[in-house]
Amino acid sequence: MPASTSSTFRQPASQEPHITTKLPAHDADCPECGLRVSLPKLKRGQKAACPRCGRHLVHIENQPFSTVFACASAALILMLLVYSQPFVTVQARGIYAPLSLPEMVYWLLADNWSFMALTMLFLTFGTPLLFLLLVLYSYFALSVRRNWPFVHGAVRMITRLRQWIMVDVFFISMLVAYIKIKEVAEVHFGAAFWLMPAWALLLLRTSLAVSEHWTYRQFVKIRKFPVFQAAENTVCCSHCLHFRPLTEIHCGVCGSELFQRRPHSLKISLYLLIAAALLYLPANLLPIMITENPVKTETSTILSGVVYMWHKGDKLVAAVIFSASVAVPVLKIISLSLLMLCTQYRLSADAHILSWQYRITEAIGRWSMIDIFVIIILMTSFHTPMARVTPGPAAVYFCLVVVLTMLSAYFFDPRMLWDKQNKETV
Ligand SMILES: [Zn+2]
Ligand SMILES: [Zn+2]
Repeated sequence: MPASTSSTFRQPASQEPHITTKLPAHDADCPECGLRVSLPKLKRGQKAACPRCGRHLVHIENQPFSTVFACASAALILMLLVYSQPFVTVQARGIYAPLSLPEMVYWLLADNWSFMALTMLFLTFGTPLLFLLLVLYSYFALSVRRNWPFVHGAVRMITRLRQWIMVDVFFISMLVAYIKIKEVAEVHFGAAFWLMPAWALLLLRTSLAVSEHWTYRQFVKIRKFPVFQAAENTVCCSHCLHFRPLTEIHCGVCGSELFQRRPHSLKISLYLLIAAALLYLPANLLPIMITENPVKTETSTILSGVVYMWHKGDKLVAAVIFSASVAVPVLKIISLSLLMLCTQYRLSADAHILSWQYRITEAIGRWSMIDIFVIIILMTSFHTPMARVTPGPAAVYFCLVVVLTMLSAYFFDPRMLWDKQNKETV
């Protein structure tokens, strides 16, 4: 089936003439619905999507290299500024906490909360830094047309790191924490806070500028790999969308595992979901946050915290925490269960709707981390004997629920949702 194409970008005034950036007409199997799509010849500024499920398949930027270099370099500079400038200062009687992001990590480690420190460090420092360095490395290798070591693995990691970059989630968490803190203390934002949304936007733009299929096509040309056509004895790689011989176990272009449908997808996804559902119980029943001052100690669970904020009048905070910590994980668990039931029992449901349900389920999971980040911000703001906030055991269980549901969605192969429809139309 021919792909739906569109030119969404303006044609460039000047181009990068030394690099061939066009894509010839060729076939590719949609990684979301499995349809074999005939991609037309694509030029700069054009993109192609699956005509059946609408999944984006490939795009070519107007200035493929300049755009990536500019966005990734600017994001790296902003990252250095965000991590070197003051983020927030919290001031009240007996409390003066000027905090930069490294200081927040330091206080978490000093209070022996290495799990929380590692969570923050991994999601707001490790993943964006690794992502930007790998993008610059692989695109530099491409632009000088060199076959440098680990370049194909770097591109594979870039695409997998995307959903684990949570700078935007951390920024929204700071806004939620601000509404909570301003009741008891003065809050002054530093330069790092104001730079953070720009950094998050640049990370997103860099991520959008990297088209996996187009990038691997350039490597195929540089390495002079043979290009296989769609045939009985070939299988289309779900990641780089190149056809490879059935005899290969791992794709010769990108190194990913080759399969028509992910092996044991339903079973792995189900086990991860069951583990997440079981851990969601202690995550809700045990205290998630403990607040101490010289007069009293208070413990709160996720729900008691929401109810407290609601009655106190902070309805916006209550709504955000309820959505992130209760609605999103519960809806995600229910949604994935329904998708698995439809797949296992081949229930007659519209594959288009199920496909959209899967995309939304996959996209919203990371926003559940808001509550954990809010606790981290409160912990680092209030760490004196006059006022101390510490996480309860539920925080660890809740982090695990978020990770397990994200992994469950990742291992679920959405092509199974279309298989029944495929058989009916054959
Ligand atoms: Zn499709
Ligand atoms: Zn591949």
